[in-house]
Amino acid sequence: MKQLLILCTLCVAILFLTGCKQTAEPHSATLFAMDTVMELTVYGDRQLLDRAKELVLDMEHRLSVTDEDSEIAALNRTGSGEVSADTEKLLTQALALCERTGGALDISIYPVVRTWGFTTGEYQLPEAGELAKLLAVVDYQNVAVNQGVAVLSPGMEIDLGSVAKGWAGDRILEIFRQNGVKSALLNLGGNVHTLGAKPDGSSWRVAVRDPSGEGYAGVVEVTGKAVITSGGYQRFFEADGKTYHHIINPATGYPADNGLLSVTVVGDEGVVCDGLSTALFVMGPDQAAEFWKAGGNFDAIFITSNGIVITDGLKNTFSPLDSYKDAKVTVLYRDKD
Ligand code: ADP
Ligand code: MG
Repeated sequence: MKQLLILCTLCVAILFLTGCKQTAEPHSATLFAMDTVMELTVYGDRQLLDRAKELVLDMEHRLSVTDEDSEIAALNRTGSGEVSADTEKLLTQALALCERTGGALDISIYPVVRTWGFTTGEYQLPEAGELAKLLAVVDYQNVAVNQGVAVLSPGMEIDLGSVAKGWAGDRILEIFRQNGVKSALLNLGGNVHTLGAKPDGSSWRVAVRDPSGEGYAGVVEVTGKAVITSGGYQRFFEADGKTYHHIINPATGYPADNGLLSVTVVGDEGVVCDGLSTALFVMGPDQAAEFWKAGGNFDAIFITSNGIVITDGLKNTFSPLDSYKDAKVTVLYRDKD
């Protein structure tokens, strides 16, 4: 009888525990920050969403180039300034990515981006001479950060817009993880961050936008990865029958124009994926493919007007969709050609 009682108690305990596991309910929140709509979904404590929102708004307040009170705006105004520990970490990571990509990513491109009007929306086609003058001070190697102080060379200004959303996603998921969350999905303006798998154990299906129209170019299945896209369709204007977008080639001062319509980078760290997606978009299809072949723990989806190129890590998890359904999908391998 006693044994039966113990057995019953055990069964109830097991039922209770498995029941608890299944009650990780999804909670969602939407906010507008970093110039984009952010949708956060956490399977766990709803209050974590408030913490995530606070974190993003605080981060925006420290980093935004257009917020006069931000640490970055102060640094840009005076050429040197104190930065908080978090900003220093991001700045250090961003500079490492500038170096890794041979300057295709360059956080000091900001004066050029601003002159085109991409920061304010007051777009204009700058004179070639003006661009040349602005480019003379663009060089991430002249940005130093050490022990809470950042210093720029005279005339330089920086902008962390190319990596800030990826960084924000990483920090939010860090808070979720520290609080025992096993499943979460963040959509930060088309940049997607996933924590773990879906609660039922299956992969997340993340759609990649069609860069030249409505709908999607494909879907990729991931667990615990960031899926981050840069494309010329995200912010642009037209002048004299030509389209100019917001991702600038630091070698020319003009928007990257190399046949790539978008680049999606899939990897473990959002900040790295964000920096790389911008940089690979600047490099163009050939140089970007060479960059990937040379190494690094990430995969990529390159969309051009000729079709889609994916790296081999995605060959079983990427499927084209909508108007790309019949598009040619080429797989890149590291050890071939
Ligand atoms: P989005 O922020 O639109 O998702 P990206 O992550 O590619 O896209 O970042 C683009 C932003 O980065 C631009 O709006 C501009 O502020 C800045 N930027 C543009 N070109 C470069 C570049 N070559 N290196 C670093 N930052 C850049
Ligand atoms: Mg980026």
